[in-house]
Amino acid sequence: MAGLQPVRGTRDILPEERRAHRHIEETGRIVAERFGYEEISTPIFEFSDVFRRTLGDTSDIVTKEMYSFTDKGGDEITLRPEGTAGVARMLIAGGLAQNLPLKYFYQGPMFRYERPQKGRFRQFHQIGVELLGVSEPEGDVEIIALGAALLEAIGVAGDTTLELNTLGNSASRAAYREILVSFLSDHRADLSEDSQSRLERNPLRILDSKNEGDRRIVADAPDFSDSLDAESVEFFAAVKQGLEALGIGYSLNSRLVRGLDYYCHTAFEFTTQALGAQGTVLAGGRYDGLVGQMGGPETPGVGWAAGIERLALLAGETPMAPRPIAVIPVSRELSGQATVIAHDLRRGGFVVELAFRGNMSKRLKRANRLNARAAVILGPDEVARGAATIRDLDSGDQSEAALGSLSEHLAAYR
Ligand code: ATP
Ligand code: MG
Repeated sequence: MAGLQPVRGTRDILPEERRAHRHIEETGRIVAERFGYEEISTPIFEFSDVFRRTLGDTSDIVTKEMYSFTDKGGDEITLRPEGTAGVARMLIAGGLAQNLPLKYFYQGPMFRYERPQKGRFRQFHQIGVELLGVSEPEGDVEIIALGAALLEAIGVAGDTTLELNTLGNSASRAAYREILVSFLSDHRADLSEDSQSRLERNPLRILDSKNEGDRRIVADAPDFSDSLDAESVEFFAAVKQGLEALGIGYSLNSRLVRGLDYYCHTAFEFTTQALGAQGTVLAGGRYDGLVGQMGGPETPGVGWAAGIERLALLAGETPMAPRPIAVIPVSRELSGQATVIAHDLRRGGFVVELAFRGNMSKRLKRANRLNARAAVILGPDEVARGAATIRDLDSGDQSEAALGSLSEHLAAYR
């Protein structure tokens, strides 16, 4: 047995951090619903082909990062490294293309075999949105606006920059690819090993390389924008104009290419300086070729995914846990009654803590440690009278309340 540590790159998420993650998921869901995006959930594993066919055989994810295995029935299975491929598979399998446009929100774990470091794990969590069936640039604008609204709602908009680029239509991409390969071929020997192998298979990805030497070479590469045809230019202009109309600032970054093969036209990332090397918090773009490439009906799409761990790190402060009401029997004989009272209050919607042992002062200490708002103290004399003491744990004020009307007396502490 390899010991009791979690597998490298995976983590146990304790209550405080889980609360932070949940806050981001819930905010994402609420903001997405405001835009008309409803939550779906696809399986955490799929046939490996779902990812191989959609992410492209040359992507980092497919070549290095997938958790793949053969299951007991002999099927080739992969733990999902990202959400879009599964959504596209769902659209095809469910015949959902009859009802376009479709607007979806999702959240959940993703798995990639990469080198763990701050903000980079092997099991991590994403929220994401997909808009399917809209080929107009207004779709790109809506998707980016939804990302911006989420960052605002979790209070990190001021720490992020929207970087924007276009990859154009496929004719423009093909034209640029040729120009880029010809330029990079002259520097072949100086490129990193990874990038040398990308040169034939996936040269656009070299623009995105994190290798210092690659970056120096790429800095002088011909610009994508010079290869864009009229249609691509017009599409991008409409996206930029739409963002400007909404007051969403952006900076153009012609080196920004998404790592996945099915992206076209708009590519964008919300990045931050505050997280060191792992600076991208939310990233996405348009993927018009994806559903068709999987064998489904040609269906345009645009979407993004955001890393929950990185958003939580950026947001910093963890939302407070709800403050409980502590029910405290002063003697062992009253613990049965305390249990019944706690149960009734919980059924009435209160968050109630019931310490299982210890004298009154020990239990009060625990109540304070749990940040309880108030305590219901059950002493033998009061209980005999059908009453209990309610103590405001912030002010120390006490009052007596009839057991039958505890809910009303505690309403202020909810
Ligand atoms: P990077 O360049 O950081 O590897 P990526 O291009 O692989 O990112 P995407 O596939 O676009 O990332 O995923 C969207 C978001 O998911 C990222 O911006 C990031 O916030 C988050 N993310 C991606 N990989 C990881 C990981 N291994 N651990 C934690 N978060 C991740
Ligand atoms: Mg990556």
